[in-house]
This record gives sequence, structure tokens and C-alpha cells, in this order.
Amino acid sequence: MGIDRRILLKQIGLGMAGIGFGNLEALASPAGIASTTNIPGVGERIFLNANENPYGPSPLARQAITEKLTMSNRYNWELSSQLMAMLAKKNDVKEENVLIGAGSTEMLDMVSRLAAQQKGSYIIADPTYNYWTATLDNLGMKKVKVPLTANKELDLPAMLAAVGKDTRLLYICNPNNPSGTMCARESLVELVNRVPQQVMIVVDEAYIDFTTQPSLSNMINEFPNLVIVKTFSKIYGLAGARVGYALATKKTIDQLSALQSSPNGGVSVLSRIAAIASLNDYKFVADCAVLNHAAKKYTIEELTKLNCRCIPSNTSFIYFSVENYKGDYFKRLKDHNIEGTRFYEEAGKWTRITVGTMTEMKQFVRALQ
Ligand code: PLP
Repeated sequence: MGIDRRILLKQIGLGMAGIGFGNLEALASPAGIASTTNIPGVGERIFLNANENPYGPSPLARQAITEKLTMSNRYNWELSSQLMAMLAKKNDVKEENVLIGAGSTEMLDMVSRLAAQQKGSYIIADPTYNYWTATLDNLGMKKVKVPLTANKELDLPAMLAAVGKDTRLLYICNPNNPSGTMCARESLVELVNRVPQQVMIVVDEAYIDFTTQPSLSNMINEFPNLVIVKTFSKIYGLAGARVGYALATKKTIDQLSALQSSPNGGVSVLSRIAAIASLNDYKFVADCAVLNHAAKKYTIEELTKLNCRCIPSNTSFIYFSVENYKGDYFKRLKDHNIEGTRFYEEAGKWTRITVGTMTEMKQFVRALQ
């Protein structure tokens, strides 16, 4: 069975066949234009920098937000339990194991503050997603960086070996941002088994919905030091709505929520409504996975023709080297109004591009040719 089909079936959760893609390309803001023309100073740019889902929000989320717009005059209390119950069910845990907040960034921030209550160090891959670590640094935690392997995978044995007496937190981004690589589930399970219980293990599954790998959520009650962090910003297409959540034992969730000014309360009524509708929009999620896969495959093939080495990606972005690319990569992007990222590794000139719609990726490729 091809990857497209397997992802589709995983996302749908049923063996439903014969589903078309609807008209998601039409829903997408054309090359990022429609969504930004109203923002002063933004102009007609193509945003391939933040791993946003170009097709989102989902049709059901759009409909729900529009219909419930007037509920914004009310506080969000009623809707809180509905979303929590859905997330508990989806992840096969109890509601007491779920904490929601304004994006997974808020969860990572709370995890940082909890870990830093005892001073020490934290372990993180290099490069990995690290925009959230300023909290740890500001609280005086020492950063221990573990380089990726030559294949740009997390070096789990080296990360385990880096654990010392003063380690408070170990961060695993799976699949990893920016490299797009994924750890084998067995290796992760082994790691979780071997890390001492006093070290908090944070597994960030922001992109796991683009893969067929199951979440580690079913391990949280066996391992009280395990926290899973998830988001609606990626495959659910709700980056601007700011909805994320953490899964952990009740004790850890209680400790984390004690650090939240309004436990479970930071997500607006409309964002909750959008999240609830998105969880029910299986078709949208499945379609996004398949469209992402097709646009990614095309882009990797074209980048390879342009002498850019690409790392096989399990995500909605591509990590590649422009070391042997003939042109000035960033100038080409700038000249074509395309927002890319930066060099994550100077050695080898490794950068990342978000997989947008096929139209956007064709424009990206044309800009480089
Ligand atoms: N974790 C990873 C691995 C990410 O790549 C991102 C965003 O790009 C986030 C977390 C933050 O997501 P959120 O929008 O939920 O704060």
C-alpha cells in the first residue's frame, strides 16, 4: 500500500474508500495571496516559512466559526469540557490527562517552567525546534545540545548518554523540525524506558499526523515523566487560532495547570469551536496529508534536479542543502516574494522550506530554476 493511501486510512481511522479530494486547492489562499492582501505592508508574498497548512482552516471549521461568531461575547467555559473530552477520546486517555492552551508553544513554556523549578540542565537536539527554549535559558537552565546524525536524524543513543545527574528535561521532536526525520517507535519506547524517572521527557508530536506512526500518548500512564505535546497548528490548519495541548499523568497535568493563569482557559470560544469542528473533519485531514505528500514529492524531485540534497521528509516541510545549488538561493526567494527560512546548519548550507500547495511549490521551483 502506498504512503498516500496509508496516511489517508490512518487519518480517516476507517477503511473508507473512494473519497475524492474535494476542492481544497480552491480553499487555499492562492499562493498565499488572498490571506495577506488585507494586511498592510504584507503584499503578495508566498509564505513557505512557518509550516502552516495552506488549505486550512477545514471546511467544517470555517462553517462552525462563521455560524458561532456571535458566541464571542460569552466566556469559553462551556466549550472547554467538550474539547477536552474529544481530545481524551482521540488519544485514548482520560480528560484528567489533557491540558489545553494557546498553541503547543504555551504547553512547552509551562513544561519549561515546571522543569526549571529544580535548577539543572536540559537536553535538546541540534538543530531542532527551539523557539520555546528561551524560558528555560532565562530561568538559568543549562542547554546541552546533541547534534543530529549524518542522516539528520535525532541521535537517541547520544541524547540518552548526555543524561546526567542534573538533567531536568529531555526534548524529543518527532518528527523533527527542521530535518523532517522520524525516530522509529521502538527506539523511542526504548529511550523512554531507559531515561531515569526524575528527568521529564517531552515528546513534541506537532507533525506526527503527516505520518502513519501512532502517538506515544498510550504510554503516559506507564511513564509519569513523559509529556506529549500536540498542536492544531499543522495538519488541522489552525495556526492562527492558537490551540495546542499536553498529555501526561494526572499529577503532571495538575502541576502544569497550576502554572497556567486560567487552567484550560486560554483558548478563545471561536478557536475551541474551530478545533472541535476540525477534529470531526476527517476528510479534510486525510486530504491535506495526501496533497502535502504529492506537493512534497514534486518539490523534492525538482530540488534534486537543481543539485540540492534533500532529506526524506515525514512532515509538511523539506530540509535540504543548497551547498551545490548554482544560484543565490535566498536572493531568488526574495526576488520572487517567497518567504523561506534561514540556514539551520552553516556546514552544508542546510535550509528548510514549507510544503505549500502544488501551485505554490511550482512557483518556488520556477524561482530557483
Ligand atoms: N512544535 C513544533 C515542532 C513546531 O514546529 C511548532 C511550530 O512550528 C510548534 C511546536 C509550535 O506550534 P504552536 O502553533 O502549536 O504553538
